[in-house]
Amino acid sequence: MSDATKIRILDILEETMADGPGLRTSIYCAGCAHHCPGCHNPQSWDFKGGYEVTVDELLEVIKADEFANVTFSGGDPFYQVEAFTELARRIKEETGKTIWCYTGFTYEEIQEDPRLSQLLPYLDVLVDGPYVEALRDTDLRFRGSSNQRIIDLKGNYA
Ligand code: SF4
Repeated sequence: MSDATKIRILDILEETMADGPGLRTSIYCAGCAHHCPGCHNPQSWDFKGGYEVTVDELLEVIKADEFANVTFSGGDPFYQVEAFTELARRIKEETGKTIWCYTGFTYEEIQEDPRLSQLLPYLDVLVDGPYVEALRDTDLRFRGSSNQRIIDLKGNYA
């Protein structure tokens, strides 16, 4: 089990509009073992890449922007699921912000795994599945290939 108080990240983008609707604080974590051919960001695969920050430090950045919601991306946040669950729980308890989360796992794979699924109750939207180069579609909003789904977990975006 990984340390639930620290997250290894590559970058934090503030006020981005690329990772979900409206302004968002996007946290790009380090590490991904899906290794999708054609991945837009293979430098994010290294689990030892980037640097460690605490959940408290991330919360401070997130709270500093009153109007931005939050996106977890990577890499794949589900490889650091304990710490992202702690962060997501505190975002929900301490702010009114929505959380979108990108992952290379499918929703079904996450649901079937008790460790991975602990993050789901705190997410508003899951953008799921590996990037599949043959299904690449540049017209898609917020995802790279048509197998990936924008799953509205709380029914807020109908
Ligand atoms: S899941 Fe995302 S970051 Fe990981 S290899 Fe696939 S496209 Fe790249």
